[in-house]
Amino acid sequence: MSPDLPSLYRLGIVGAGQIARMTHQAAVKLGITPRLFAERIDDSAALAAPGAVFNHPDALAAFAADCEVLTFEHERIDIGLLQAIEDNGRLLRPGTKTIRAAFDKMHQRRVLKNRNYNVPAFAEIRGPDDLLDFVADHGYPVVLKTVRAAPPGQRGVFIVDNRSEAMRVLAEFGELDLMAEQYQAIMKELVVLVVRRPGGLSRCYPLTETINHDGFCTEIHTPADIGHRLATEARQLAIDLANDLDAVGVLAVELFLTIDGLVVNELAARPHNAGHFTIEGCPTSQFENHVRAVLDLPLGPTWAIHPAAVTVNVLGDLDGVDPAQHLPEALAVEGAQIHLYGKYPKPRRKLGHVTAFADDVKQAAQVARRAEAALHGRRPF
Ligand code: ADP
Repeated sequence: MSPDLPSLYRLGIVGAGQIARMTHQAAVKLGITPRLFAERIDDSAALAAPGAVFNHPDALAAFAADCEVLTFEHERIDIGLLQAIEDNGRLLRPGTKTIRAAFDKMHQRRVLKNRNYNVPAFAEIRGPDDLLDFVADHGYPVVLKTVRAAPPGQRGVFIVDNRSEAMRVLAEFGELDLMAEQYQAIMKELVVLVVRRPGGLSRCYPLTETINHDGFCTEIHTPADIGHRLATEARQLAIDLANDLDAVGVLAVELFLTIDGLVVNELAARPHNAGHFTIEGCPTSQFENHVRAVLDLPLGPTWAIHPAAVTVNVLGDLDGVDPAQHLPEALAVEGAQIHLYGKYPKPRRKLGHVTAFADDVKQAAQVARRAEAALHGRRPF
């Protein structure tokens, strides 16, 4: 890291998408200027952070050597490389114990099952025989997943209803590591965000519900409408998991609510799309608390300032119109907090989000949806 960097805390962020962009902004607020390890010159965070390093993943060790603390905004990093960097004495936060559980879905399932967390039945799929054995036990539909996260814009989860569909997915993605999972009849999809300091102090954000269509998260509603008992159970589960994995920073725990109760779907060891409402909706955002936690600084409060929050994701239109063109119309929607990530518009790409707050979720949703419609050039309703 260059010696002229005006920061006592030499924080490196691996990845330069919108999560890194908002984490960077939160750090800058505290007078800390993180260094970014970006892939492309037009990465969302790289556009907003001078001095981003653009390099091949193999150059990560050299980048790490220049940072006091290294944190991550995505899961597409070689775990062996990170292990070697940690073995060399660099401070990875979270460390590789957490990283392995968050980056490798097969390992994650095994760790969770061994510790008696409720997870769907699963199996490693090395070929058609493994899949057919799994289906013989659990039936269709079956969920096929890539063990490592798919690149942005690509699918890594396939819900298949019959043998020919399953074989088609195996033929197309068979060269990747795959796993099968028992299909869950989901009543609600929930996310708990917990932030934890080294040593174990942690705080939890209000429980959120994600609304998904065709595998894309379109809205996030806070608080999740599931009642006090389940919300308490979900929060405790996330805190226990963060302690078990020795997580540092934000750990996002994605849960399914099913008729049998809470089932763990996925872990992300970083700030999460479901937590954008914390920017204006909590005294300390998930991004700022992530920075504080990985630098072992005191955490800020995580309670909700408003009774309800709704975030609507701004996804790219099929016609490729840039929502930035409609910024004036969106800003005219009173009470909507508009965030654009500076990304090149492509169909279904996450280009921004809008959050609104109100006394209840229904009212907040009306405002946020109006602003999102305005960004797409649709007449606000
Ligand atoms: P991603 O890495 O794309 O976020 P997820 O594992 O969260 O992958 O899955 C994406 C979506 O697929 C989930 O939000 C959920 O709607 C659906 N899904 C994933 N696993 C299951 C399952 N076992 N049963 C039913 N639906 C599932």
